[in-house]
Amino acid sequence: MTLMTGEQYLESIRKLDLNVYMLGKKIENVVDNPILRPSLNSVKATYELAHKSEYEDLMTAKSILTGEKVNRFTHLHANTEDLVKKVKMQRLLGQKTASCFQRCVGMDAFNSVFSTTYEVDQNNETHYHENFKDFLKYVQEKDLTVDGAMTDPKGDRSLPPSKQKDEDLFLRVVERRKDGVIVRGAKVHQTGITNSHEVLVMPTIAMKPDDKDYAISFAVPTDSEGITIIVGRQSCDTRKIENNADIDVGNKEYGGMEALVVFEDVFVPNDRIFLNGETEFAGMMVERFAGYHRQSYGGCKVGVGDVLIGSSALITEYNGITKASHIKDKLIEMSHLNETLYACGIACSAEGHKTKSGNYQIDLLLANVCKQNVTRFPYEIARLAEDIAGGLMVTMPSQKDYENPVTGKFMEKYFKGANGVSAKKRMKVFRLIENLTLGTAAVGYRTESMHGAGSPQAQRIMIGRQSNIEQKKELAKAIARIED
Ligand code: SF4
Ligand code: FE
Repeated sequence: MTLMTGEQYLESIRKLDLNVYMLGKKIENVVDNPILRPSLNSVKATYELAHKSEYEDLMTAKSILTGEKVNRFTHLHANTEDLVKKVKMQRLLGQKTASCFQRCVGMDAFNSVFSTTYEVDQNNETHYHENFKDFLKYVQEKDLTVDGAMTDPKGDRSLPPSKQKDEDLFLRVVERRKDGVIVRGAKVHQTGITNSHEVLVMPTIAMKPDDKDYAISFAVPTDSEGITIIVGRQSCDTRKIENNADIDVGNKEYGGMEALVVFEDVFVPNDRIFLNGETEFAGMMVERFAGYHRQSYGGCKVGVGDVLIGSSALITEYNGITKASHIKDKLIEMSHLNETLYACGIACSAEGHKTKSGNYQIDLLLANVCKQNVTRFPYEIARLAEDIAGGLMVTMPSQKDYENPVTGKFMEKYFKGANGVSAKKRMKVFRLIENLTLGTAAVGYRTESMHGAGSPQAQRIMIGRQSNIEQKKELAKAIARIED
């Protein structure tokens, strides 16, 4: 069954037997949980849009493994056009959900594990690439959502995996058996894990020979025995469980989710292993995944930025300040910053190249420049949105007060805007801006812009490595006519 409908996807998640904890309690039903449901809806949108003819070109692709039509989120990029379409698809979904729609981590993991396993096998007597191809065919055929899992807890950051006091601070193999391996450890900041069918684990850093047990990549179902998911808190998350607080939530339909995922002696069968001890390839897998995900942000954050810019423009209208020149200028600045991010996402895609395995890889330098800008521009866009919105975005009383006849009439009288714009309309926009800049969506739009796909310093190291200063010195010497 290819291309699940939104409803089929929802039912498929319902069938999983996930071991999830949140706010101190075990969650038996993640699908109908009001805090988690918006995050499920965001992933569901990746299924729904694939069935709409106007988005077919962006949302679907022809698999290079099977020739079948697949959801682009399970696709191996076959050319630079695919890389560009990926970014456009992410912008589209950012616009439609105003949140993190989570399915990209799997897509980025597929493309990096695919090309890396090919090169591992070329150098070793391994058959990881075939294992991975079989896994991905299964994913494409079933149209599954897979969570790419990279970040280990890391303990003492100055020490490599094998030198940590607690051996489990990087996920590792604790037992090698004939039929597979047993793994133990954890992955943190796991985007969308409760909405995923499978989890695809990769190492988190380049490794030395001593770290052999930590150079492990594999995929297992998210409801495998031994996996525990502990959902992360988000600012204002409990507004979602209040009655009559739909407006206060800011974005009722969509959201994102992150979690700590613990692997307590989880069994991985041989055919699901994609790296096992080849420490020299851990860095390649990490670098490629990070590169793809840094490209991704040139799409998803831009789409969310579009909604934030739209909200800011809307509130200027409701406040009656559209003619003020400084407001116009701030909106222009927001667009300029947002489109600069998009330009970087498109550029690193257009400048992509073929890997030895046949799929396409982004330009690493430009993808890192893209993400470095993402660590800054959304903050400036958010600052300008707050500037434009004014203080009411954080001082507006609740929806319940608006609905209380005693207080509601005062709110309607004193919070109405220009040209009879109702207090309710203004409240809705304020809460959306609050959601994007300070509330649950700020996880994705702000802090994730900083740290997701690697913190700013990680990009600076890559930019330093890729920017070829020596060649630039030669250029200068040639112009200045310096001969050594
Ligand atoms: Fe996709 Fe962006 Fe969320 Fe990463 S942060 S999973 S790229 S939407
Ligand atoms: Fe992310």
